[in-house]
Amino acid sequence: MNKPLSPMMRQYLDIKAEHQDKLLFYRMGDFYELFFDDAVEAAKLLDITLTARGQADGKPVQMAGVPFHALEPYLAKLVKLGKSAAICEQIGEAGAGKGPVERKVVRIVTPGTLTDAALLDDKETNRTAAVCFGKKQTALAWLSLQNGEFKTKIIAPDSLADELARLTAAEILVAESDTDKVKALAGTAQITRLNDWQFGADAAFALLTDYFACQDLRAFGLTAEAHPAAVSAAGALLNYVRLTQTQLPRHLDGLTLESEAEYIAMDAATRRNLEIAATLDGKKAPTLLSVLDRCASHMGSRLLAQWLHHPLRRREHILARQAAVAALFEHHHAVHRVLAGVADIERIAARIALASARPRDLSALRDSLFALAHIRLPEQPALLATLTAALPAALPVAELLARAILPEPAVWLKDGGVINHGFHPELDRLRGLQHNSSAFLSELEQRERERTALSTLKVEYNRVHGFYIELSKAQSAAAPADYQRRQTLKNTERYITPELKQFEEQFLSAQDNALALEKQLYTELLAQLQSHLPALQQCAKAAASLDVLSAFAAQAQQYSYCAPEFADYPVLDISNGRHPVVERQIDCFTPNHLHLGGKHRLMLLTGPNMGGKSTYMRQAAHIVLMAHTGSFVPADHALIGNIDRIFTRIGASDDLAGNRSTFMVEMSETACILHHASAQSLVLMDEVGRGTSTFDGLAIARAAAEHLIRHNQSLCLFSTHYFELTDLPARFPAAVNMHLSAIERADDIVFLHQVEAGPAAKSYGIAVAKRAGLPARALKQAKQYLQDLEASRPTAAQSDLFAETPDIPAETPNDPSTHPLLSALANLDPDTLSPRQALDELYRLRQLLHQDN
Ligand code: ADP
Repeated sequence: MNKPLSPMMRQYLDIKAEHQDKLLFYRMGDFYELFFDDAVEAAKLLDITLTARGQADGKPVQMAGVPFHALEPYLAKLVKLGKSAAICEQIGEAGAGKGPVERKVVRIVTPGTLTDAALLDDKETNRTAAVCFGKKQTALAWLSLQNGEFKTKIIAPDSLADELARLTAAEILVAESDTDKVKALAGTAQITRLNDWQFGADAAFALLTDYFACQDLRAFGLTAEAHPAAVSAAGALLNYVRLTQTQLPRHLDGLTLESEAEYIAMDAATRRNLEIAATLDGKKAPTLLSVLDRCASHMGSRLLAQWLHHPLRRREHILARQAAVAALFEHHHAVHRVLAGVADIERIAARIALASARPRDLSALRDSLFALAHIRLPEQPALLATLTAALPAALPVAELLARAILPEPAVWLKDGGVINHGFHPELDRLRGLQHNSSAFLSELEQRERERTALSTLKVEYNRVHGFYIELSKAQSAAAPADYQRRQTLKNTERYITPELKQFEEQFLSAQDNALALEKQLYTELLAQLQSHLPALQQCAKAAASLDVLSAFAAQAQQYSYCAPEFADYPVLDISNGRHPVVERQIDCFTPNHLHLGGKHRLMLLTGPNMGGKSTYMRQAAHIVLMAHTGSFVPADHALIGNIDRIFTRIGASDDLAGNRSTFMVEMSETACILHHASAQSLVLMDEVGRGTSTFDGLAIARAAAEHLIRHNQSLCLFSTHYFELTDLPARFPAAVNMHLSAIERADDIVFLHQVEAGPAAKSYGIAVAKRAGLPARALKQAKQYLQDLEASRPTAAQSDLFAETPDIPAETPNDPSTHPLLSALANLDPDTLSPRQALDELYRLRQLLHQDN
């Protein structure tokens, strides 16, 4: 017959039943144990030993454990593998009642709701997002437990991917029935499915109003009628936090309804192409962020990433930052020095909110707050004055901590040695009892030696046996009658006396009481700190902003950046612009001018491969983006118009996860630009049409360029290897030809990287191929083929691909009447086509081409 389960196992199984989908870490003394399938899985994932103990249902109970102090690295590993864990602590006193110690799940660790220092990347903001697909609207809400940010936004369903890319959420919550709509867009984020009812509007409204202690959400610009999906998403998110943290932290900022017009919009592809925080192959450097990140603190680095992903549109905010950067030219070294020694206040505040702050968090917080309060900056523009005034906001916290916490507290509260002397009279008394023990013991030793006249007599203490009087074996026979034997060793005997016993009891209870009191005082202190959370966050934000602005100043000073100017009309006027990342990778970067605006809207860029076209285009976007974060920019002078969005179509990549080929990706991105770019948008089009055959590629590129000129009228940089397109300026005054120069020397090519007026004369493909190391025989053959081709085209118009086909007369390449493909193209109105129809049209165009060939 199977033995009945032990009470502890029953307790375990009850708790586990509520956390089926997570690994349950069950605290037993100094270990967290996992049992059954959890143990098998954890042993494999964490590379820890799987053992077995006792039996359940006639089978050995499998178990695996980790020491309590080493839990965090294991959790970090699990979370990276996309697992969630429930941490179950002992909350009752051992032996306090019958049955096992009371235990409870105190937190649930999921990728988006991490707060432990060890589990987080210091330089990244960890966010959880919730998506609600409502009947009327789609909305996103997102939240960071580290900095208390809590926002929501109504979005167009087709911009969900862009918004998720902007937020870089670690975890996305979605209703079970909507999971498929998010799957392909989530990237590396973990998708957590919630029951549909968890997105219920009424419960969400009730939870939010309860949390913010208000009657409705009007103060946040939200109403249940106008923003039902936003309220539901925010409510589901807050509820999830409550479930995972087993409490509601008090440090959320209020709920902000974000609007479109606040930031320059960039879609997911643009963020990727501009390599803002990750390179195209997913590395963290070199990127715009890695180059600009001269921040002294992790708080600063995270804020910088946030600023780069959210370029401001409001001119006065940008100029306020710019003025602060200029004023910090003189002081950034000093600011950096102070901030380098400052702890991560933002994250410590989050741990205070969740009552998980450790003693060393509090001592670091105290020292940091004092250091910040002493930052002084002379002659400050308004923003700097506001920031420096906010730094001492949390000085009362520093003073409280100085009183409450020892200068160098112990790492763990359980060891004691955390609360300061003089903070609590009873604690001082109990500690006094312990410290006075040495005086008492030497006095007792003296007294007993005199009484017994035994020279080997010593009074001592050890952790295992407590206090004792020790005599050598030889003298032990003369021990007085009131000496009770406690322990016999090889050469000595140990005794206890009633007086020493009494002292021992007092001493040990003083130690226990002091520890218990320290724990109580510490818990009270954390509770008291809750009311200071807004001040701590204010201080942390000010420190982070100061850090970023100082980093901007340091960068601007070292690399001679200029303060960009802004105009109210669409314009981009850059003198000697440089690419902020590429110029750091190479020895000698060639600066270039750029002018777009007024009657010139589309710059057609030609030039050899490797000539610098992509670099030139991206540097324009980087300069615009940086300017809108308040940073100075890598140029001698920059005038930037009122830009609403940045679009890029750069490079070729398959989206295998999304089941789209390279060409399909290229066309989707192009379609998005042609549909959405406005006269105030900056558009970068790099080699459109490259992903398909020469003719339809050229046809598409031409159609796209013309559409941009005629309909979108955006500020556009359009690079192409189709020389045919260089006739555009002749037909459209809004287009202008520029090229990246290169010269051929002794069969080799020298790239000058200089942008010059007019179209490129040659493509230098073979010279570039030689550089790339193509075998000499293949090169020779290529040259021969080129000569043959050129010989068959007496005009030597290497560029004019249309001229090579007898069906399409070279003299009239743009006359729609001369070729069915062109007339079909001319009759196309892309504005009226759905993406699907556009694709069908493409196939039709291709067919026309093949018919004619
Ligand atoms: P393209 O797009 O024309 O093929 P890229 O923009 O990719 O060329 O540039 C190729 C390489 O040329 C870059 O990796 C960089 O090393 C160098 N380069 C580009 N622009 C410049 C410049 N303005 N000054 C110096 N080197 C440059």
